[in-house]
Amino acid sequence: MSETPEPARDPKLLDKVINLCKRRGFVFQSSEIYGGFGSTYDYGPYGALMLNNVKAAWWRSMVQLRPDVVGLDAAILMAPQVWDASGHLASFTDPLVDCRECKERFREDLLPESGACPHCGAKGSMTEARHFNLMFKTFVGPVEDDASVAYLRPETAQGIFVNFKNVQGAARMKPPFGIAQVGKAFRNEITPQRFVFRTREFEQMELEFFVPPDEGMKWWEYWCAERLQWYVDLGIDESRLRLRQHDADELSHYSAGTADVEYLYPWGWGELEGIANRTDYDLTQHMERSGEDLTYFDQETDTRYVPHVIEPSAGATRSMIAFLMDAYDEEEVRGEKRTLLHLDPRLAPVKVAVLPLSRNEQLIPTAAEIGEMLRPHFMIDEDSAGSIGRRYRRQDEIGTPLCVTIDFDTLDDRAVTIRDRDSMGQERIPIDKLVTYLTERLPT
Ligand SMILES: [Zn+2]
Repeated sequence: MSETPEPARDPKLLDKVINLCKRRGFVFQSSEIYGGFGSTYDYGPYGALMLNNVKAAWWRSMVQLRPDVVGLDAAILMAPQVWDASGHLASFTDPLVDCRECKERFREDLLPESGACPHCGAKGSMTEARHFNLMFKTFVGPVEDDASVAYLRPETAQGIFVNFKNVQGAARMKPPFGIAQVGKAFRNEITPQRFVFRTREFEQMELEFFVPPDEGMKWWEYWCAERLQWYVDLGIDESRLRLRQHDADELSHYSAGTADVEYLYPWGWGELEGIANRTDYDLTQHMERSGEDLTYFDQETDTRYVPHVIEPSAGATRSMIAFLMDAYDEEEVRGEKRTLLHLDPRLAPVKVAVLPLSRNEQLIPTAAEIGEMLRPHFMIDEDSAGSIGRRYRRQDEIGTPLCVTIDFDTLDDRAVTIRDRDSMGQERIPIDKLVTYLTERLPT
């Protein structure tokens, strides 16, 4: 698909990451005790922390640090007319074909060019394509009839578009400005695949950035660069990131330009985030169907217009797993294998581990006292079971940037040893300066 030379990746990386995710409580298969439920996943203690950190980093960069963006949290259920206006009812479909020989089902657009069945190899065995809508349908109220049909939102974007007037007026925003939202979306994918990369229930981090019509392309280019850089700033190796512009035949019906931020997954390049120029498509559609005026009147230029929209749309769970894969590393230390996650401290589920050198009864009260002191400031782990080397390895494996060790000298000098995850370097810090020291080492 691409001419870009691909840096070598460990072919076992995906299995190793899936294994680590389950063993250490990042990601579990949903409903596992019932044999698992197709393509849905649950986030365990460390996974929930890390996923929250990914979303918080996005929110900080997109809302908190910007004077021109405000947030929104819209409902998952919306009036069905929304999906009619947005075009999802008519055209949010996948073309499905069945193999007459082996009865397997495929997406027509993903079949090999030869047309041969990817499962049994039969040629010319596919049925005509049927169009299958990807929206999950449900019913509101006690009666299951056509009048009570509702859909689980397939994207968070429409919640933003239908609130354009509310937000613009309430927050007194003037284009160019954006509305950001993080939330769940649902797509009844026929071919979910590859761990959490494509799942039926997922979490989006979307910005709709409203601009004057003649500034569309300028802002689209701005957001392409900005969003690529976000992943770099949070530690993904630049050689495994690229921006790929969609060809004309890939573009959605509403889009004047789309580029994907792609990551080099163990199975090849794949989308992390799409940045689309949606033009005035969505607001115009909602204006026509709802009868509400969604134009903006610019008093300075005395002009009225329908804003154009630039949409950087990222997947939270997909990003989390890319950060995890990129951070995964194995080293040899004094003849022993060390598995570690070089996670940016902002993404690491646990920031500081508090480890007494041993379970000696003299050390435990001081370790507890330090735990108490740090807990309001940082997400910490406390662990006293097993050798100290083994406990360091357990923290390395979940990406904890710093460990605080309480030893017998601590009882005399009221100081502790700080051990760095990446360099394994150690430093002695007085307990009364510990919070200040750790705060400097762990940026928000
Ligand atoms: Zn077949």
